[in-house]
Amino acid sequence: MSRVYNFSAGPAVLPEEVLREAAEEMTDYRGSGMSVMEMSHRSKVYDTIIKEAEQDLRDLMQIPDNYKVLFLQGGASQQFAMIPMNLMKHKKAGYIVTGQWAKKAYQEAQLYGEAVKLASSEDKTFSYIPDCRNLDIPDDLDYVYICENNTIYGTKYRELPDTKGHTLVADVSSCFLSEPVDVKKYGVIFGGVQKNIGPAGVVIVIIREDLITEDVLAGTPTMLRYKTHADNDSLYNTPPCYGIYICGKVFQWLKRAGGLTAMQERNRRKAGILYDYLDASGLFSGTVVPGDRSLMNVPFVTGNEELDAKFVKEAAAAGFVNLKGHRTVGGMRASIYNAMPVEGVEKLVEFMKKFEEENV
Ligand SMILES: *Cc1c(COP(=O)(O)O)cnc(C)c1O
Repeated sequence: MSRVYNFSAGPAVLPEEVLREAAEEMTDYRGSGMSVMEMSHRSKVYDTIIKEAEQDLRDLMQIPDNYKVLFLQGGASQQFAMIPMNLMKHKKAGYIVTGQWAKKAYQEAQLYGEAVKLASSEDKTFSYIPDCRNLDIPDDLDYVYICENNTIYGTKYRELPDTKGHTLVADVSSCFLSEPVDVKKYGVIFGGVQKNIGPAGVVIVIIREDLITEDVLAGTPTMLRYKTHADNDSLYNTPPCYGIYICGKVFQWLKRAGGLTAMQERNRRKAGILYDYLDASGLFSGTVVPGDRSLMNVPFVTGNEELDAKFVKEAAAAGFVNLKGHRTVGGMRASIYNAMPVEGVEKLVEFMKKFEEENV
């Protein structure tokens, strides 16, 4: 069996150790005589799986007791609607538009009330994070929304915006568990797990309890109310059982690896190897303002589309796959999530150096 270095933005690389464990348990989960895919979500065995997953996530992120952890479906995109449906009590919320996912959330919110664009970086193809230290924020907003790491453009907030007391809601899909976070600073943290945690089909929502109420927009379906899922410990209906099981294995892997502080150090080291080379290279260059660079998604270009295409093709042939940039940005993008080994980035840089020598 040979595995490639997979730089996909999502669904993305998972720890090989986790995949091997899952393979071993595939047909008989720990003496139950069945696969996790085949068991009732109300069984004792599964109850232990989901409860341990939640506890491990709580330990990793040091989630305070007054926050609920929900394992839901519908992807991060479903949250673009669920958030206004549940939180827009006064039908007005602020959005900071730093990329395509933030823009989609901002547009979705307009279906439910007034979405105020507090800041945007669209003027420069989302290549930076706007200064959010003193935004003009109306008093009557229900919340302020951000996308903390912009998967497509490769930017990340250095510091959280000053919301002037308003609830902060953050989409962390592509930086989930990549570094320690202070959960208390947020009202809601959510993310699809297929970027940095597990298989597509699960979205994790961490939400402060006082935000979970019956007072939701008229017509909000039962399934789209946070209260429904919070009251039933994510088991109101059949959850994405197998996906949650894999997420649980990744949480265990993270704990064994030393938790989020160790992960942050490793991620800084990995990203540093790539950014240092991009800054020194005469052929490749990064597309993001240096201070706003993401540790997870690294877009870069040669400045010549034909050469970009040649690079992507030759890289794939050498075992470095999914390096083509998003269709709206072009060029290349290396997503180097938690599960990408340091060695993968080192070897990619070696390959880039060789390509540079051959093509200048
Ligand atoms: C991938 C991504 C999404 C969309 O996730 P889905 O699960 O496909 O809905 C939303 N936000 C961010 C930041 C993403 O990276």
